[in-house]
Amino acid sequence: MTPRPIPPLDDTRSPDLAATTPAAGAEPDESTAPAAGPRPHPQLVFAAPRRGKPPVHWADLSVEERKAAVVALGLPAFRAQQLSRHWFVHSTADPADWTDIPAHRRQEIADALFPPLLEEVRSLTADAGTTVKTLWKLHDGSMVESVLMHYPASEGSAARTTVCVSSQAGCGMACPFCATGQGGLQRNLSAAEIVAQIVDANARLAAGQIPGATGRVGNIVFMGMGEPLANYATVIRAIRTLLADQPDGLGMSARGITVSTVGLVPGIDKLADEGLPVTLALSLHAPDDELRNDLVPINNRWRVAEAVDAAWRYARATKRRVSIEYALIRDVNDQAERADRLARELKKRGDWGWFHVNLIPLNPTPGSKWTASRRRDEQEFVRRLEAHGVPVTIRDTRGREIDGACGQLAATVR
Ligand code: SAH
Repeated sequence: MTPRPIPPLDDTRSPDLAATTPAAGAEPDESTAPAAGPRPHPQLVFAAPRRGKPPVHWADLSVEERKAAVVALGLPAFRAQQLSRHWFVHSTADPADWTDIPAHRRQEIADALFPPLLEEVRSLTADAGTTVKTLWKLHDGSMVESVLMHYPASEGSAARTTVCVSSQAGCGMACPFCATGQGGLQRNLSAAEIVAQIVDANARLAAGQIPGATGRVGNIVFMGMGEPLANYATVIRAIRTLLADQPDGLGMSARGITVSTVGLVPGIDKLADEGLPVTLALSLHAPDDELRNDLVPINNRWRVAEAVDAAWRYARATKRRVSIEYALIRDVNDQAERADRLARELKKRGDWGWFHVNLIPLNPTPGSKWTASRRRDEQEFVRRLEAHGVPVTIRDTRGREIDGACGQLAATVR
């Protein structure tokens, strides 16, 4: 397999926001500002969106940029926090719900600052309504998916809701067992397109649409479509908004956020320096370069040892245990010797609890010759890892009947 081009690490997409500020002393007068037509107030001017780029949305902006944006519409700066509260806390961009905003300005604000980003094409449910996979159409027709999974309280663990989000439309990493990998990359998502997937899930929870679930989304896994570290700057921007205190963000905890990567080494090192103690998941899938070159083609650029070294550095820097993802594929990577080799590869960097292995029964993609491991091979793989003292879990297969298991998004719905 030939090495693939290295994806750009740093797309520094940020909203092309050029807001003019009102003249000093000019107090915005909301009561007289017309709802449409020529306005006396300075205008918020967004540079024309580049092809495929989604419109700039409230959730793309920093707190300061949000204030500038409302001021540019002729509103006092304190309106920014009210609008943030509607979007991030109450999960609504419907002007009819904005009862604390002057009625005659609401639609105009919504049009300027809350463009619709995700159009629901369809939602499929499984597990008695506690798993919901939603297919979204973006403004340019690209499709992405998110999966909401609610886990009721069980002995020892509280109820929680996890959302598996997409960070790109399509993916450029071309892993042959992954449905998304087959179609190539369409484009990076914007920060707001990422955050909106979670805001939508919070809205569903608040509306009582998920049986038995209350509260808000507590866990995010970047395991939907796309390679999050190939859309680095935007993913970081989205994560910072997830972590920001309410009402400026969703007020989530970094412990609840998992970024999963094929192993873009410079991206892992950069993430370790962000001071965001999110969990890192490394999609390893093979302990040897020969096989991993085929399963995860970026391995031709960053080898097993380099990817695992980077994961180890991440654990050392953040004190967060790294999750080593390993999809078990029948007769491809599920041999007992590979379990031994995997254990050795991980343990040779020290055994201080820096990793755990998460086995994923392969979710066969349509037309693929590969399938999940036999039960006995899976059990033997687990037994071998445990014999080496490697902590191991088997990922649950939530949503499998709706092809909603992570890594299996969008292929059957196009
Ligand atoms: N690009 C990132 C995140 C998206 S995929 C990454 O590769 O980590 C999320 C996880 O699902 C990855 O571990 C991926 O290898 C795995 N996955 C992809 N397709 C799968 C399939 N058909 N069955 C099981 N796991 C799969």
